[in-house]
Parts: sequence; C-alpha cells; structure tokens
Amino acid sequence: MQIVTENLSYVYSPKSKDMAVRALKNVNLTINEGDFFGIIGHTGSGKSTFVQHLNGLIKIQKGNGKILIGDYDLTDKKCDFKSLRSKVGMVFQYPEHQLFAETVFDDVAFGIKNFFPQLKDDELKSAVATAIETVGLNVNAIKDKSPFELSGGQKRRVAIAGVIATRPEILVLDEPVAGLDPKGKKEFIKLLHDLHNSFVKTIIIVSHDMNLVAENCNRICVFSGGEVVQVGTPKQVFLSAEKIKDLGLELPVTAYLTERLKEEKGVIVDNDFTENSFVTAVKKALKGGEND
Ligand code: ADP
Ligand code: MG
Repeated sequence: MQIVTENLSYVYSPKSKDMAVRALKNVNLTINEGDFFGIIGHTGSGKSTFVQHLNGLIKIQKGNGKILIGDYDLTDKKCDFKSLRSKVGMVFQYPEHQLFAETVFDDVAFGIKNFFPQLKDDELKSAVATAIETVGLNVNAIKDKSPFELSGGQKRRVAIAGVIATRPEILVLDEPVAGLDPKGKKEFIKLLHDLHNSFVKTIIIVSHDMNLVAENCNRICVFSGGEVVQVGTPKQVFLSAEKIKDLGLELPVTAYLTERLKEEKGVIVDNDFTENSFVTAVKKALKGGEND
C-alpha cells in the first residue's frame, strides 16, 4: 500500500486563541510500498503528530488535507479504522512502557484478540507464538513470565511482537532505538530489516539519529516547523549540508570524517554518508591519498 498525504495540516487546541499550535502545515508526502523511510527533524517539528495520523490515532481535521493509504481514504466517514490499524502497525517511543498484562502471552495476544475476535484458541496461541519467535525470543521460555521481569531489550521486543502479531504491511516506529545501548541498537535494526524482508512491506522510522537513517533508509524527509522541507535519498538530503545545519541538525558522523580526509589527504570519494564510503576514503588515504 502506498501512502499519499495531500496538504495535511494539524492544529492542537484549535478553538483556543492562546493555546492553538499549528503542528503540521500543508504536508505533501508520498511513501512508497517497499520503502524503508526515515523521518528526521528537530524536536517539536511535527514528526510524531504526522506519524500518528497514519493509523488514524489522530484524526484529520476538517479542511486540513487528505491521507490515502492503499484503498483507505482516511477523510472518508466510512473509513474502517480498525481494519486500517491491523495493516498499519504503530510502535511508539519507549513501547515497553505500554506493556500492561500479567504475562507476555496475554500482552502479545491483546492486539490479535482485538482485531480478530473470531480466532479459535489454538489459532490465537499459534499467532502469539509466531509473533514472539519473529522478534527473536524463545516462546516457551518467556510466554508465562511477567513483562516486568524482562530486560529492557526483551521488553521492547515483546512490545513489538504485540504490534506485528497482526502482520501489518506497514510498520511505523517513533524513535525506535532511543535508550538502547549500541549492541541493543544493532540487534534491533537487524530485526527491522528481517521484518522488512518478510511480511512488512514498508517501514517508517522517526529518528534523531542521522547515522541510523543514512545507513538504513532508502528515502528520508526532513520536518521543520510542521513542514516537510526536504525529501530524497539520504545522499541527496545530506549533500545539502548547509541546509541541514541551518535546521539545527547534525550530519552523519561519517560526513565529517570523510570531509576531513578530503581536506587533509586530498581523498575524494563518492560519499553517500554511509560507513562504507568512509571506509573507502580511509583505504584511499592509506594508499597515500592519490585518487584512482
Ligand atoms: P516531534 O515529534 O517532531 O518532536 P510533535 O509532533 O510532538 O513533534 O510536536 C509538534 C508541535 O505540536 C510542537 O510544537 C509540540 O509542542 C506540539 N504538540 C505536540 N503534542 C501536543 C499536544 N498533545 N498538545 C498540544 N501541543 C502539542
Ligand atoms: Mg516526537
């Protein structure tokens, strides 16, 4: 399913003169099926408000634009939001804070029961088991534990299992690696790619981490003041370095390192702001800096 937003705007507390906040302004954005899409931008730029529209958690205000997701027209009064939510999974920042059930099994089962109440007991069990295994946990070892007994990384995986249990086509994650240590972060990103190679067709991540989006996303957009100010491949977006800095954002660290090698050793590489470009630049520098 493709996501198309047209002139999407949003105002918090629209009726209050003093409190009204224009969080989104005329956002026109297309996210294609198959994208591993990154959303970056300063705090308060509208990223979370935007993604919460995508499964109808925030309803489009009258006259404030359109969203089409596959055949779902989110402005249509007859739009089936329940069905939409089973296809567009939403993982909030610190999803482990939303675990609530007595056992891991019950937590993961909650969403499936809600979306597919007609499932038989054994079908439910098997769906829960599949979801838990998909996020890389051992079902029998974990299903009867309290979510509160688990490690931070395990909790986050359980929370994701609850979301992917309905096999969403689109998975939206708001700051998915916030608070994880480097190892946890790496494993988590691998999980996202595994899901993307499996039934999740489109992944959308909101992130402060420029390295993360440079390494993993095929397309990214930059929010600023509620508007989308840039969209393209990470390379296209980060090449306009001045613009990124003007928006108060950092470039991926590889951008600075590769630039330093250019200044000091005269090494020129086709920089796409990934670790690979940097490694290529280092190899050239070690060979004496001459460009071949
Ligand atoms: P981001 O996720 O990029 O940090 P948000 O979408 O959370 O940005 O916020 C966009 C703007 O809307 C900010 O000015 C923020 O203060 C405001 N905002 C966000 N949530 C609310 C809310 N529940 N009530 C009022 N204003 C809000
Ligand atoms: Mg946010």
